[in-house]
Parts: sequence; structure tokens; C-alpha cells
Amino acid sequence: MKFVATPARLSTADATFDAQFTARLHWSADTDAAIEKVVADILADVQQRGDAAVLEYTRRFDHLDVASLQALELTQAELKAAFDAIPAAQRDALQAAAARVRSYHEAQKKASGESWQYRDADGTLLGQKVTPLDRAGIYVPGGKAAYPSSVLMNAIPAHVAGVGEIIMVVPTPRGEKNALVLAAAYVAGVTRAFTIGGAQAVAALAYGTQTVPKVDKITGPGNAYVASAKKRVFGTVGIDMIAGPSEILVLADGTTPADWVAMDLFSQAEHDELAQSILLCPDAAYIDAVQEAINRLLPTMPRAEIIAKSLSGRGALIHTRSMEEACAISNRIAPEHLEVSSHDPQRWEPLLKHAGAIFLGAYTSESLGDYCAGPNHVLPTSGTARFSSPLGVYDFQKRSSLIEVSEAGAQSLGKIAAELAYGEGLQAHARAAEMRMKKD
Ligand code: NAD
Repeated sequence: MKFVATPARLSTADATFDAQFTARLHWSADTDAAIEKVVADILADVQQRGDAAVLEYTRRFDHLDVASLQALELTQAELKAAFDAIPAAQRDALQAAAARVRSYHEAQKKASGESWQYRDADGTLLGQKVTPLDRAGIYVPGGKAAYPSSVLMNAIPAHVAGVGEIIMVVPTPRGEKNALVLAAAYVAGVTRAFTIGGAQAVAALAYGTQTVPKVDKITGPGNAYVASAKKRVFGTVGIDMIAGPSEILVLADGTTPADWVAMDLFSQAEHDELAQSILLCPDAAYIDAVQEAINRLLPTMPRAEIIAKSLSGRGALIHTRSMEEACAISNRIAPEHLEVSSHDPQRWEPLLKHAGAIFLGAYTSESLGDYCAGPNHVLPTSGTARFSSPLGVYDFQKRSSLIEVSEAGAQSLGKIAAELAYGEGLQAHARAAEMRMKKD
């Protein structure tokens, strides 16, 4: 079967550009009501019946029938055996990727994840104490495909943060375990792992069951059932973010081989028909060359159908009047992945404000970042990079303020506090401050 990928051709010089651009970009984060209802019922059932409910949904949705939830726990010996059994080349790749992801997150912890304090002129100590979560739950998707890289990207920052226990859940339809996922859990230092998934696994982590321990925060991507469940348990536990379909935006000055850019657009499009791939470029002839490369390379892709649907449905090749204008449009989109495919990427980087991850230069394919460059691949989607950040060590930490007021500090601060407390009509507040002040 022959598939055709026809991303929309837009030009910023066109009077209807804004309207066309907005229509292309639109993606609604609202999950459909049917999914919401199913998920609400599953959460309530797991909260009430615990293991028995998780077992029932695992039977129904993952076609995995066992007598007890303990049978769905993967032992450390099983994780290690999977690591020992995979081909040596995969073992080496997994360890090399894990080492790079670990060093990146260790640098992140050093830069912004440490406690600090200072004393002011009165000798009062002020500071911030950074502590890891006691227990984190990581969701590794597994319904339609396996994602060992997601195990590394979730578990390693948790480990670097110093999280006490890392509990992994991963659905295994029909009980078919993915050896690379198990091996990645071993390499990343997962504490306990269960082969359960969907809303029932999110519920088990959020509320705890007889077998699955209750966690403090749940991170990791998943399908619409998982996203809806995470949204609903927020408050009982923390969550990282709600992920939408994947996105790539390539800002090109026309100097990178067109085939490379076409393949980078494919690399997000192959995830999902709803994924979005956009090219912004001031050179119209280069845009033609990329479209030609898309036509030529598409038939060579095993996932050609998904790529064609994604590019034709939500993709766009946008001709801009300049690279500066391309940067401004990129900021409006705030993409998950932003490639600056230019011979001079450092020139454009200062103009780019909103993006999950910025990949600089022709050699930096986004796929290197997905697996092994070091930074996290769990990134804000759907424009949320305007206000949120990649998954990181900070997601597995929390901060407590530290205050130790000196005797001298109690005099000056007491005066200010009492004044404001009386103003608010809060006597106890005011008197607690005044009792610590010296009487003249
Ligand atoms: P999944 O693990 O998210 O979902 C599988 C589970 O969905 C099943 O265990 C089942 O419990 C539940 N489910 C399926 N049909 C159901 C139904 N009718 N009713 C109730 N529950 C049902 O796996 P998936 O489906 O393969 O989805 C994975 C998603 O994660 C994809 O959208 C993929 O693109 C995304 N992903 C994102 C990243 C990232 O970093 N952003 C990485 C990997 C995967």
C-alpha cells in the first residue's frame, strides 16, 4: 500500500496565515467523557477492593489471569536475570545510556537541588532544606509497545535525588514481558516492580493495596486512561505532568541535508497519528527539498501509515520571512522538542524562550536525546513548555524552609509581625511574637 504524507504548506506572508496556523496547531487536552467515566470507576474500585480489583482489571484489559497480585511482582533476581540474558550489545547500550543520563542528572542536582542557608545581620538563620521523596511510583507504558528508555528517564533522576523506594509498574499484555524493560529496571535501580498497567496501576500506586505500596508521587507517560487517572489522583499523590501527543519543531536555515530533517520529522510522526511535526524555514527551495525527501523516504519506513497520517493531519512546512520570525513563531508554539538545524545555532539560541528541549546544530538529532545524550526525554507537550520543565531530579525532591531566629532577631521581627498581626485581628499571633521581645 502506498502512503502519501502531505504536511500543510503555509507562508507567514499569506494574509490567512494566522487562522491556518491556529487551526493546525489546535489540540484539545480534554479526554473524552467515556474514558473519564471508566477511569473514575476503576479508581473507586481499586481504592475499595485493593488487590482484588487490580487483578480483575488486569485480567480484563491485559488478558493476564493470575490468582494473586504477588504473582505479578518481578523479583530483583528476575530483573538481573533479564539483564544477564539480553545480547551483550544491548547490555552495553543500556549501561552507556544510563551512565550519561545519570551524570546529567547528578549535574542538575548539584546546580539546583542542594540545600542552602545564610545568616542575616541579626544572626537569624534562613535557608532551604532539600529532601527526597520517600517513595516514588514510575509508570512505564506497555500496552502497545515497550519503552526501556522511559524506565531510565524516570528511575534515574529519582535515584539521583535519593528517593527511598522506586516502585515501577508496567503492563504486560498476555504476560509477555519485555526483557529490555526488565533489564533497564535493573540498571536504573528500581526497588520493586509490578506487571500491572492502566488506571488500575495508577490507583494502586496512589491509594496502596494489600500488595502494592502507596507512593508519594507518580511520574511517567501513558495513554489516555493513564493520563486521566493521574489527573484524578493528583492531590492524594503528586504527579509530574499530563503528556499529550509528541511534537517536534525544526527551525532550519537550509544548510542541513534535507534527508536528515525529513527523518527527524518522521521520528516524532512515527509515534502516533496525533503527533505533530513542523518545519520553519526562510528558504522556499529548501522546503521543497524536504518535501521531496519526505516523498522519497516514506516508502522505506515500516511505520509509513502512521507517519503519513500524522504529517498530513497535523504536520506543517512553514515558509517564514526570516530566521528571526521563525524563532518568534517557535516561541508561540512552545514545542516539546525544538531542533535548531543551522550552521550557526548559537546565534538563534538566545532568541528561543519556550521549548521542552532545544537541540542545537545539524548533528543533534532529537533521537539522540530520546535515548542517550543525557537530558531527560519526558518533556512538556501541547504548549505547556511556556510554564513547565522537563522531568528532573527536582520532581523527586521537595523543599522545606528553615528559620532559626536569634534573640536579636526576635526583637526586630517581633515588632513587624505584631503590627501586622494586630492589623489582621489575630491576637495570638501578635502576642506570640511580643512574648519573645525584651521589655524595656
Ligand atoms: P499504556 O501502558 O499507557 O496503557 C496500557 C493500559 O491501558 C492497559 O494496561 C489497560 O489497563 C489500559 N487500557 C487500554 N484499553 C482500555 C480500555 N478500553 N478501558 C480501560 N483501560 C484500558 O500503553 P499504550 O496504550 O501503549 O500507550 C502508551 C502511550 O505513552 C502512547 O501514547 C505513547 O506515545 C506514550 N509514550 C510517551 C512517552 C514520552 O516520553 N512522552 C514515552 C513513551 C510512550
